[in-house]
Amino acid sequence: MDQITPMMRQYLQIKQQMKDTILFFRLGDFYEMFFDDAKIASKILGITLTSRGTVKGDKVPLAGVPYHSADGYISRLIKAGKKVAICEQVEDPKLAKGIVKREIIRTITPGTVLNPSLLEDKVHNYLAAINKNNNKIGFSFIDPSTGEFKVTELSNPTELFIELTRINPQECLIPLSLQEDELVTQLATTITFQDDWIFSHSTGFNTLCELFGTSSLDGFGCENLLIGIGVSGAIIHYLKETQRSGLTYVNKLIPYTTSDFMILDAATLRNLELTRTIRSGEKTGSLIWVLDKTITAMGGRLLREWIQQPLISVEKIRYRQQGIGEFVASPTFRDELFSLLKNIHDIERLISRLDTNLANARDLVALKESLKITPKIKDILKPLNSRIIKEIEENLEDLSDVTELIERVIVDSPPLSLRDGGLIKEGYFQELDELRNISKDAKNWLVRLQQEEIKRTKINSLKVGYNKVFGYYIEVTKPNLHLVPQDYIRKQTLTNAERFITPQLKDWEVKILNAQDKIVEIEYEIFLKVRTQIITEVKRIQKVAKTIALLDVILSLSQAAVENDYIQPEVNNENIISIKDGRHPVVEKVLVGERFVPNDTFIDANTEQILIITGPNMAGKSTYIRQVALIVLMAQMGSFIPASSATIGIVDRIFTRVGASDELVKGQSTFMVEMIETANILNNATHKSLLILDEVGRGTSTFDGVSIAWAVAEYLHNNPHLQARTLFATHYHELTELEFSLERIKNYNIAVKEWNDKIIFLRKIIKGGTDRSYGIHVAQLAGLPPEVIKRATAILSSLEMSNIGEETAVSSIKPQPVQLTLFEPQSHRVVEELKEIDLDRLTPLEAMNKLNELKRMIE
Ligand code: ADP
Ligand code: MG
Repeated sequence: MDQITPMMRQYLQIKQQMKDTILFFRLGDFYEMFFDDAKIASKILGITLTSRGTVKGDKVPLAGVPYHSADGYISRLIKAGKKVAICEQVEDPKLAKGIVKREIIRTITPGTVLNPSLLEDKVHNYLAAINKNNNKIGFSFIDPSTGEFKVTELSNPTELFIELTRINPQECLIPLSLQEDELVTQLATTITFQDDWIFSHSTGFNTLCELFGTSSLDGFGCENLLIGIGVSGAIIHYLKETQRSGLTYVNKLIPYTTSDFMILDAATLRNLELTRTIRSGEKTGSLIWVLDKTITAMGGRLLREWIQQPLISVEKIRYRQQGIGEFVASPTFRDELFSLLKNIHDIERLISRLDTNLANARDLVALKESLKITPKIKDILKPLNSRIIKEIEENLEDLSDVTELIERVIVDSPPLSLRDGGLIKEGYFQELDELRNISKDAKNWLVRLQQEEIKRTKINSLKVGYNKVFGYYIEVTKPNLHLVPQDYIRKQTLTNAERFITPQLKDWEVKILNAQDKIVEIEYEIFLKVRTQIITEVKRIQKVAKTIALLDVILSLSQAAVENDYIQPEVNNENIISIKDGRHPVVEKVLVGERFVPNDTFIDANTEQILIITGPNMAGKSTYIRQVALIVLMAQMGSFIPASSATIGIVDRIFTRVGASDELVKGQSTFMVEMIETANILNNATHKSLLILDEVGRGTSTFDGVSIAWAVAEYLHNNPHLQARTLFATHYHELTELEFSLERIKNYNIAVKEWNDKIIFLRKIIKGGTDRSYGIHVAQLAGLPPEVIKRATAILSSLEMSNIGEETAVSSIKPQPVQLTLFEPQSHRVVEELKEIDLDRLTPLEAMNKLNELKRMIE
């Protein structure tokens, strides 16, 4: 039987508390992983798996990474969805009696990372918590790298999934009792289960009051949230456990309701390509790619929030517009401010690193440099008048106390490490200056010693050197050994030289090393004091950071407006959207060799509610209807828009449904997805909503498709609770018939010109419907072989000839979808039969029989 070593016993004890986490166990210059951790990590990281000793006769698997390059390895484990606990030596090994004490100093999980190398500058990294009771769902989330902390209560899973799509949390905390819940099994993120009591209202209330140092939460406007306070408390509980810090930088919980913003469901966020494209998933080609001119990471993150959460209050929209308008009108202000913002670091993330003890002296210098800029910004903003800019100016509080403190204490370009000295300015602390003099003197003495010994021994190559194991030594090369004096004491033999010490040298060594140790210790202590002092000002610093982010976003939107020739839309509460010369903000930027053709739009829920847009493939239907949605969304962000003038009646939600066939990723049949999403629209849209329906019904056979599209349009028109403004693009030209029976449906088409058997896309939207799909022309454009095109043309014309029946059928449809079955080929046979009948010659009995026969044909 082998004995478990004391070190292994310590390891197993610590690992016991960290079951679902990979434990990085500090041993000298390495973090070691044992057992399953070692196996998992070696696979993910591609590092060697070895073994060390045995436990109960089995070899113990081992894998390790050097501590100084641990960050990179941790990143990769986190990205693979793992959690990592860092276990450090918490006492000086030299002073330890027996085994060195070790403790977990931090746990890093996908939702709690703070390390800049693991974070994307302009994207929030959220940790969320969810709980539910009989009638509500509590949802709270935090970005631990900035302290942004919010909570809401939702009434159904659909609302929750909309929020989850928007927030995209990297990790979700869930009570254990919901482990099997349907809600939870649908979550596509790292899930961390926690005991139920952690989510209770009373625990949450106490955790939050303790964090904020308050006796109630009324000051945050959270008094009515019950399940919400529980989930927020669970987040703080988890953060305290993983970060082991005071979380001073989390000093506010912001309650919100989704009804304060325009609602964008998951499909719409995706279809409108707000933050990334559907095809490549990249930012390039998305709306944010066009609008993001932000300079700071903080501004970048805020702009993303604005895009994903447009406003619905006319007043709030105008408040933003006025600020943008002022900058649009004053290019010099813009340029000056942009060049100042370039010197501002990510203050929000600096602060969280400072508070969790991850910051170094360079971070403090970066903070100082950033905060020093704000008075200059304030000066520039003084002459501006809009309310939002005035408020920004007021909120750029004077933080010279903080900058002066850092300026006075920390050197201008400190080293990365906090443990090697060189951080603190001369003249700040007398004892430190004295120690530094001693150390400097001693080093000079060593230089003198070398010169003197060379003189005394006549060994020109004699050197005084230093290494970690033997300390200071005198080195003499082999050929000169006979010249070594009596008082030298031999210490070490190398291939070409020997190393000696003298008692005098050792005396100085003690002096130097003591001074150096002391210097490092004192410098570190001073650094910690400065850190603590700055943390007490965290609220003021955060306010300035938020203000800079806001300024950056306003500037960014004004810059985008100027560069892209946008105008300020009029916003109001009427159910009308009227756009003159609207453009698609992204397509107009990516077109090569073709000019983007602007188009007008007029939709009025009371008169021109549903626009049916027909036209051949590639005419520009999809582009046009998305352009309207994007213009409305931009307008409600407060942004300027690509048009020559516009009046936008506020929209409460934008729904988009795209009947494409590229939804295979989801594992559901495309048509099923299409219908689920259409159902979602019909059930949730209101008379304030904007609906973008692109080829709904395309996922099934033509006749099914036309029937469904037809019925959907009728429902949108006739249901008094809906009557939502709708743009319906379709290549089913049959739908243009609807205009004749339903008063608020209007036909538009995108003009094309036929020329020598080819079609030319004019990209211009005009009144009226089309009667053809031009599919063969598009096939020709796409380069199908001429034989195929020719044959297709012949087949089409013969089909059209035999289809006189269809024409009749279409024009005879009453707006009831059932009657669309007349389209089907077998119905044509019935029609043909009917035509053949000569009524003058038919006896009543024959008529009866004929009727019978016709009926059987249909069945
Ligand atoms: P549809 O949906 O009718 O098949 P799309 O909207 O996909 O057509 O447009 C096809 C292409 O036509 C677009 O990718 C774009 O390059 C071009 N396009 C669309 N609208 C315009 C326009 N208004 N001006 C210039 N080019 C346009
Ligand atoms: Mg299309």
